[in-house]
Amino acid sequence: MNKTIIVSNRLPLQVKLENNKLDIKPSVGGLATGMKSVHADGNGIWIGWSGITDEELTPELSKDVQTAVSKEKCVSVPLNQQDVEDFYFGFSNKALWPLFHYFLEYAEFDKNQWESYKEVNQKFADVVLANVEDGDTVWVHDYQLLLLPKLIKDKKPNTSIGFFLHIPYPSYEIFRVFPWREELLHGMLGADLLGFHTYDYERHFLSSVKRLLKLEVRFNEISYSDRIVKVDSFPMGIDYQKFHNAALKHAQHTQVEKTELHRRLEDHMQSSPDAKIILSIDRLDYTKGIPNRIKAFEYFLDKYPQYREKVRLVMLAVPSRSNVDTYQKLKRETDELVGRINGKFATVSWTPIWYFYRSMPFDNLIDLYTSADVALITPLRDGMNLVAKEYIATRVNNDGVLILSEMAGASIEMSEAILINPTSYEEIADAIKKAIEMPVEEQKSRNHILQKRLARYSVEKWAEEFFKSLDATKTIREAIV
Ligand code: UDP
Repeated sequence: MNKTIIVSNRLPLQVKLENNKLDIKPSVGGLATGMKSVHADGNGIWIGWSGITDEELTPELSKDVQTAVSKEKCVSVPLNQQDVEDFYFGFSNKALWPLFHYFLEYAEFDKNQWESYKEVNQKFADVVLANVEDGDTVWVHDYQLLLLPKLIKDKKPNTSIGFFLHIPYPSYEIFRVFPWREELLHGMLGADLLGFHTYDYERHFLSSVKRLLKLEVRFNEISYSDRIVKVDSFPMGIDYQKFHNAALKHAQHTQVEKTELHRRLEDHMQSSPDAKIILSIDRLDYTKGIPNRIKAFEYFLDKYPQYREKVRLVMLAVPSRSNVDTYQKLKRETDELVGRINGKFATVSWTPIWYFYRSMPFDNLIDLYTSADVALITPLRDGMNLVAKEYIATRVNNDGVLILSEMAGASIEMSEAILINPTSYEEIADAIKKAIEMPVEEQKSRNHILQKRLARYSVEKWAEEFFKSLDATKTIREAIV
């Protein structure tokens, strides 16, 4: 029977090694949920890195990892410390990530790291090739593995290969700067179906292919050697029911069941019932527009002083890639800005910004989402932005206002939010005012539409649509043969 192989940089597992003992738990991310029907419930395997480098493992422990992950229908790709340094922190996060998010000034194109990127893609290919058989379907994920589709297709032409990019695909004028641009495109074109979050990313990709490789593109199909490569957009959804149901349950929690954060937020609301909570949640990443957001909040408090002591920005910044220096710089800048603005406006009974620098467990995320009157999400570039969707899913009374950057992929499907240009303090300040003053009826009618859309196009549906489309390429190939 044919099987499906999912490939991503990391396995959907939390693998911990403490005192030479392994602890393995499934992780609960969105991608794992979307893949459940083909992976957890179906006849599939997942290939990726376990998160533990070769140096940390004795030969015996290494076998133990393989055995333990295979119980979860996973196969791990062995990576050493140098791979992780050069391929992941290096090339993926210092070249591809900034370039694809339009941060040219942060992109470093290091030849050694590029070599490592190629080698590690080959390591992934070796594991895939050891497991794949003719007729199987392989779904490769994200920017760390752009060369993988070709490495598989060259050796196993009779497989269906899908690739999905979870970050933006930049315009040709940005992509053309990349030193190994043709090689990267050829790597991607090993796939039979290439998926992006939005039509714009798809269009940018097709334009790169046309202009750099001079290939014939008809509508969304590329003629490539003797094959047709299909390109399409599939906006990723969330596990809507999980967030919605958690919020419903949250509302019924008894005093004992409430988390500490839940109680603190309630105290806050009781002590100042007309004060509004504005929430932002993101990884501390320069693409997320965090300094801009804080400065825009300052601008708002200056422009509309009547709202001082009436609003609070609750900001959760999740530590990310903290060994990369641009991220360390961003951390310092954020700390300073929060300190300066709190110092400038605070009164004995009010601090304008509550700032958490950590990751929070699911229950606390629900505490934050459900207590927020406004969600302020202002990335400078973002492939999708799931936080925007999760906030809407938790609005069980249909109230609440989402302010969302038009530079986030999610904005395409969420036009009922207040959309802003994240570099305009004026627009953000006015959007905050509009959100706070928005009549509840209007909030409800906007959220009602958003919720219906999000519930329908869930992450499961996203995966299903992708597979359906990939399957269709198979039928076309068979017809041509
Ligand atoms: N998230 C989390 N723990 C936290 C804060 C956020 O697991 O402490 C989750 C959040 O629920 C969301 C994801 O992290 O599903 C962030 O996804 P998004 O697309 O917004 O941004 P990304 O980090 O992928 O760029």
